[in-house]
Amino acid sequence: MSTTRKAYRAAILHSLADPAVAGIESSYQYFEDGILLIENGQVAEVGEAASLLPKLNGVDIQEYRDALITPGFIDTHIHYPQTGMIASYGEQLLDWLNTYTFPTERQFADKSHAADVAAIFLNELLRNGTTTALVFGTVHPQSVDAFFEAALALNLRMIAGKVLMDRNAPDYLTDTAESGYAESKALIERWHGKGRLHYAVTPRFAPTSTPEQLDLAGKLLREYPDLYMHTHLSENRKEIEWVKELFPERKGYLDVYDHHKLTGPRAVFAHGVHLCDDECKRLAETGSAVAFCPTSNLFLGSGLFNLNKLEQHGVRVGLGTDVGAGTSFSQLQSLNEAYKVMQLQSKKLDPFKSLYLATLGGANALYLDDRLGNFLPGKDADFVVLDYNATPLMSYRMQQARSLEERLFALTMLGDDRAVKETFAAGVSVHRRDA
Ligand SMILES: [Zn+2]
Repeated sequence: MSTTRKAYRAAILHSLADPAVAGIESSYQYFEDGILLIENGQVAEVGEAASLLPKLNGVDIQEYRDALITPGFIDTHIHYPQTGMIASYGEQLLDWLNTYTFPTERQFADKSHAADVAAIFLNELLRNGTTTALVFGTVHPQSVDAFFEAALALNLRMIAGKVLMDRNAPDYLTDTAESGYAESKALIERWHGKGRLHYAVTPRFAPTSTPEQLDLAGKLLREYPDLYMHTHLSENRKEIEWVKELFPERKGYLDVYDHHKLTGPRAVFAHGVHLCDDECKRLAETGSAVAFCPTSNLFLGSGLFNLNKLEQHGVRVGLGTDVGAGTSFSQLQSLNEAYKVMQLQSKKLDPFKSLYLATLGGANALYLDDRLGNFLPGKDADFVVLDYNATPLMSYRMQQARSLEERLFALTMLGDDRAVKETFAAGVSVHRRDA
């Protein structure tokens, strides 16, 4: 096999560790004039241009001015079928599901509709610099086929699964414990491990699954040890009350999942806005992760995520958009809202912690930090080129900035899809803003 090498020259920034653990200074590496060398779709080397250039005889070098290269963003919770219902007015979680979500998801019984939306969705992710996401399908297995077919064609690292939902939802959108198990199993056989795709067993949330269905979900996880488990947890107060009524024998919401053996490494729980200390402790103990979805939590009025509390308990936390309840595909905009969520609790969100959450922290939450999240040699070459001059205001603001920290913070406050100049997946350009 011939070796394909290509180098990219710009300012380069990547996370090395969680700032909460390593301290801010040791948490990142920055090259003001850097080179990222890619070989066969993987990172070969990263460093200062001055030291790497002499070694790059004959290697094609793509140069970007006033730009910052970072690892591709990782979205640890999103619903692709809800792309067309983003920005739907007026409801909190449970009414929002009945009013908007279920009728929208019904349309995914039609595979060609699913394929159309999957294409729009993936294009939106890449336009926003997101190269990996943990994705909900609908209850229809064909929704997952359509999504994976589109993701495979782009050679993206994506994780998705068919929704399991056998009660408390309209008849047109429910499976049964047995059919949900069998359909998930067929999808796992078809897609898990193909290209860069992974399968997630996906019960929507405790209220829409019977204990029998949750048991069978746990059985799938034991049958295929490297699967993901993806669901919702403790998002909204009324939802939590409902879970108590449906599962009176359980200690609390997390205990429902724990009892059915759905916690553990590669189990990702979206939201976790109202968790008690014991639940945080249990999440950490089991190696489970939580997806912090600030734009969604604010949009649905769910509450303020307590990042520091989860951090103190050692829970893995990734950043999620939760589109369609989330209001943006942009992880830069998620970080903007995350900062405000912290401010409302008199807490700070350091810009290097923000970088970590959107990249290496997400990889860590997904147990993909050996493949993704930064530019250590051998990792997948999934990266973005961010443009400091994306808008006149951003350009003017950057001229006033005196430090990397200040530029990075302004980028997360003012940046969105306009700031993403180019996106690469496995070393191949998959989005060019100005093309
Ligand atoms: Zn969600």
